Formats: sequence, structure tokens, C-alpha cells
Amino acid sequence: KNGLSKTRNSFASQVQNLFTGRSKIDDELYEDLEEILIQADVGVNTTMKLVDELREKAKDQGVKKPAELHDIFKEQLSDILSGGVDDVYDEHQLTILMVVGVNGAGKTTTIGKIAQRAKGNNQDVLLAAGDTFRAAAIEQLEEWSNRVGVDVISHQKGSDSAAVAYDAVQAAKSRDVDLLIVDTAGRLHTQDNLMKELKKVRRIVGRESDGARVEVLLILDATTGQNAISQAKTFNKDVKVDGIALTKLDGTAKGGVILAVKEELGIPIKLIGVGEGIKDLQDFEPETFIDALFD
Ligand code: GDP
Repeated sequence: KNGLSKTRNSFASQVQNLFTGRSKIDDELYEDLEEILIQADVGVNTTMKLVDELREKAKDQGVKKPAELHDIFKEQLSDILSGGVDDVYDEHQLTILMVVGVNGAGKTTTIGKIAQRAKGNNQDVLLAAGDTFRAAAIEQLEEWSNRVGVDVISHQKGSDSAAVAYDAVQAAKSRDVDLLIVDTAGRLHTQDNLMKELKKVRRIVGRESDGARVEVLLILDATTGQNAISQAKTFNKDVKVDGIALTKLDGTAKGGVILAVKEELGIPIKLIGVGEGIKDLQDFEPETFIDALFD
């Protein structure tokens, strides 16, 4: 069980059936492929690019049988998804992970999962309750910290989140932790306020980091499809995003959104969330992902 069965049974098997079930390569086949990709949230731009490129490659390589398209198609997916993937959270030197994303995307859960995994790798982990806007957010992070058995730096609701980040970075340095994960707000009164706050937190973290590795990890909910893409563009414009964790892939048959995220944003997908449990987090590995869908 890898949490990808919905996407596998829908998107991947439809693609497979299309390539194996047709007797000839014609416009209808390409149109049907387009339809399947769009249904799977691959997005119009990425779909067009994939299908046009497949047509060209098939022509160039003199491909006659639809079944032969399948390998070319898998290579295309692999080309889109690979690149820029590396696991940065396994090193014994301070890494500061600033986690951003809209409420409900799975920020807190993903922070808990990352913390658990890092702890399992014998890393010292510290959390920072930077979403000072909601009391529930602070409590939820504290719950996770208890579950995992790591400390959390928090201030009162309504306090300055940049001050929490500041304290947390100082604590991380003085306690010599390996990984500091900074939670942030996912919704303030306006998007403008939110972005201002995130920029400030990012600035403080960068300024105080003393050469620690700082990464902004954007949490995106795969079930929100194309909405996730526009969210990512907004966040990336204001706080440069270094990597994406795509959550709830287990909850959607439209895992094609992962292609759109990578192709349209050019930001590496680092992690995927495949369930609500503490272990339901995977490093994103393009080949493993593609194999999980098609083999
Ligand atoms: P936050 O508001 O961004 O901090 O979101 P939460 O971490 O509270 O998550 C919102 C909901 O999504 C919770 O019910 C989580 O259990 C659920 N969730 C988070 N990640 C995943 C995932 O990968 N798969 C599934 N099925 N649910 C998830």
C-alpha cells in the first residue's frame, strides 16, 4: 500500500488502457489522452505540452503501434518530474525549515510527520509555533510535539510570529539541534497581511541563521487541483519557495496535479503525503512514483 491507489486505478489505468486498447495511432487517440490528462488535473498547459511532444516523438521515431507510446509517455513524465529532488532533512547540521501554506493544506500534519521521521534518524528537532493567529494552531502543534517527543517554542496567541521565529532560531542554535521547523500562519485577514508576515519571518530567520541551511517548504493539498497551482504562484512570488510537499495524494484520483506543479512552477516536489498517519510521508522520487502508478 503506497497511498497512490486512487490515482493508479483511475488516471494511470486509463492511460494504460488507452495505449493498449487501440489499434491505431490517430487524432482520436491523442484527443482521448488529452481528456484523461485534463480530468486528472494535469492542467491545460502541461497536457498540451505532453501531447504535442508525444505526437512529435512518435512521428520522429516512426512509432506505429499505440502500445509503443506508453514507454515514451512514461519517459516524458519522468523528464517532467525529475530534477531538483534531494532530501535535505537528513543532515546533522542545522537546517531551518519554514513551512508555509493555506490553512487546511496539511501544514501541521506534515510538520509532525517530518519531525517524527527526523527524530527516527536520530536528529534533534525543535518546532516553532509561528501561526500565532489561531490559538488552535499553537495547541495543535503542541499536540504533535508531544506525540513525537520534541520541544516547541511558542508565544501567546496574537503575538508577533517573527518574534517566535527569532526565539526559535536562537534556541535551535544554543541547543545545537539539527532541524528547526517553523510553522506559519495560513490565513490572516487579507492575503497582503499574510504575505507581509511571511516575508518578515523569512527575513528574520535568514538574518539569524548564521549560515544554517534555510528552506521554505510550501504545503499544497493535491485534492484542490488547479487551485494548488495558483496558491503556489502567490506564495512563490512573495516568499521564494524552495520545495513543495504535496499532501493528500491518497485522497485523490487526480494525482496528475503533481505534473502541473512541477512543470508550471519549476519548484521541486520534495515530499508527498499519502495519509493522515504519522508515517504517511514519502520522499518524492519520480521513478518510484511513476512505477507505482504504472507497474
Ligand atoms: P493545516 O491547517 O495546514 O495545519 O492542516 P492540518 O495539518 O491540520 O491538516 C488538515 C487535515 O488534512 C487534517 O484532517 C489532516 O489529517 C489531513 N491531512 C494532512 N495530510 C494528509 C495526507 O497526506 N493525506 C490525508 N488523507 N489527509 C491528510
